[in-house]
Amino acid sequence: MSSSPTITLAPDKTVEELLGNPRVQSAFRFFETHAPEITEEQIRLCQIPAPPFGEQERARYLCERFREQGLREAALDEEGNCVALREGSMRRPLLVVSAHLDTVFPAGTDHTVRREQHRLLAPGIADDGCGLAALVAELRALEAFHLETEGSILFVGTVGEEGEGNLRGARHLLTKGIWANQVDAFISFDGPGVERITHAALGSRRYRVRLRGAGGHSWGDFGAANPVHALGRAISRLASYPAPVEPRTTFNVGRIEGGAGINVIPREALMDVDLRSASAEELQRLDAFFRRAAREAADDENAGRRAGDPPLELDMKLIGDRPSGETPTDSPLVRMAEEATRALGFSPRLDRSSTDSNVAISLGIPAITIGAGGSSGNSHTLDEWYDPRGREAGLKRALLIMLGMVGVK
Ligand SMILES: [Zn+2]
Repeated sequence: MSSSPTITLAPDKTVEELLGNPRVQSAFRFFETHAPEITEEQIRLCQIPAPPFGEQERARYLCERFREQGLREAALDEEGNCVALREGSMRRPLLVVSAHLDTVFPAGTDHTVRREQHRLLAPGIADDGCGLAALVAELRALEAFHLETEGSILFVGTVGEEGEGNLRGARHLLTKGIWANQVDAFISFDGPGVERITHAALGSRRYRVRLRGAGGHSWGDFGAANPVHALGRAISRLASYPAPVEPRTTFNVGRIEGGAGINVIPREALMDVDLRSASAEELQRLDAFFRRAAREAADDENAGRRAGDPPLELDMKLIGDRPSGETPTDSPLVRMAEEATRALGFSPRLDRSSTDSNVAISLGIPAITIGAGGSSGNSHTLDEWYDPRGREAGLKRALLIMLGMVGVK
């Protein structure tokens, strides 16, 4: 946003000044000395289940923590995001710092956190328990050492980041809620680590394709339009797509379903398809190809059907739509993140991924997604683990970036 107010002109100088600020130093020590408490908070957050479209309880808990730290107006918005403003001397620039509340795990999943030596084990413990814990820890440090800012910070726990949530929380916040059109920069804490700076959004489109027909007996009704055969034709077409290596473009039929038995012409077949590209234009091209391929596959199957039989019906439902794009590497936000990473002795690593930042980036709002320190493994599985050792580096980096973007009073 070229017209948005900004305080940051020289990220290297800004980071240097912040490192020399005694209150920032106190906050750094706070992250070290309060490491066990930060981990306890992470455990409490993660033990509250937050399945897709069922994040309310965790969101309410996070709101409570924000209120406890002095953000009295913390509340859930219409979409279910937990939102709390920490006002600076001015409303703008307004920086969003966020982490996602939802997990990929369905309701009923056991979220009890177990400890094994240094590791914490539980579904969602790192993705995004570690980001949520970071939100609370950053706020606590800002409050404890009276780090008043020039611009303002909006703390947000978002709903619907994973899978079919389709970034609905971030989308609502930035396009429909009361903060729409007011956000100058967006940071998402997602997962562990201290080097990654996701500045590019990996776009994707996802479809559930359903084909329906009359069905019948494999021998007696041979010639009736067969939904599984049509699905096969569609998959074969898609599989032949010449996806470019650069910009990286991928497709996947991730699930197929249909049919009742070996000697039965199925009444229904469906597939879930994931299309991705680093380039919005390539994604558009792949998307158009795929939709045409599915239509033609159904048409071909129908064209050869027995006279008098009903045609197959094709239903294509868009179940995911995530925009692509990039925050330019020379934008103040990316440069600030790089400087902060280096200042702490790490090497910044720019990358591309699909996160809440996709929405901001597609709206032209500078956005990055960064790790919140520590390490993890087995993400999106029941064996997910998180090791909090070294977490403080991630928290320090995040604090430098935040304060660099809004300015310290
Ligand atoms: Zn995540």
